[in-house]
Amino acid sequence: MDATTQKPLKLLLLGGTSEATRLAKALAQMPGVAAVLSLAGRTSKAAPSPVPVRVGGFGGVDGLAHYLVQNGVDIVIDATHPFAAQISNNAIAACTKAKVPLLAIERPPWQRTDRDIWIEHATVEDAIAALPDAPSTVFSALGRSAIPLLCAKPQHRYVIRVVDPSAPPAELPEAVIISARGPFRTEDDIALFREYRIARVLAKNSGGDAAYSKIAAARALQLPVHIVKRPDIAKRHTVTTSDEALSWIAHHHATRTKRGV
Ligand code: NAP
Repeated sequence: MDATTQKPLKLLLLGGTSEATRLAKALAQMPGVAAVLSLAGRTSKAAPSPVPVRVGGFGGVDGLAHYLVQNGVDIVIDATHPFAAQISNNAIAACTKAKVPLLAIERPPWQRTDRDIWIEHATVEDAIAALPDAPSTVFSALGRSAIPLLCAKPQHRYVIRVVDPSAPPAELPEAVIISARGPFRTEDDIALFREYRIARVLAKNSGGDAAYSKIAAARALQLPVHIVKRPDIAKRHTVTTSDEALSWIAHHHATRTKRGV
């Protein structure tokens, strides 16, 4: 069988990140690769995709394994967010079950510099609980799912940046919700923090460039950052960038073509 008659390499790309968007663009141009981007459907307006998109959960490990077999998926690329531990652990188990190779893109976490004032926490709940009792203005980049958790410390005025617009909860009438999608710029975040007189920052250690501006802005203004550490994900084969993932896919594809699969 030559490369022109060979079946396309069917690839499932678990997304919801800028890496997945970048990878989808490159995969759309790769001959012989049929990629499908999978999104959880958490945001109302997904970024445009050059490859077909499926939306919604698979129904746990068994559901994902079933999807892989039913759709004849050849490889899975996990390009989900480092805090999306459930889907990443599910992907490991489902790929093992369905005997499908898995590669994950794992961006390195941000590292504290000498000028950062970081207080590290194991969970989002711990980070919120550690806010001081005296009222202050707090910038939250913990995501939409953390908004109800902020009610545990209702004395603060929160400035919350999320992708989708929403109203603040009744318990936090003074909260300001800023709806915006990264990448953000450090100078803009410095201006934002000054405008709202932000006293401290809540953030996840997401890593990557697109969301680093708040960390750099907090450093520039010498604000404390309550930063949540990465959740645990089981052992898997990883790379750190979408370019490395692309090389891995190209290599996998070439090996398969050579074998005439
Ligand atoms: P999660 O806790 O790891 O996953 C919860 C469930 O959502 C999964 O078990 C799965 O449902 C479904 N799911 C998650 N990602 C999916 C995907 N790409 N395609 C299909 N189903 C998916 O995930 P999360 O933290 O809620 O994040 C959801 C999505 O938002 C992810 O795609 C992630 O990349 C993106 N995101 C997350 C964060 C964050 O801070 N957590 C930040 C930015 C973007 P089933 O078990 O039914 O399959």
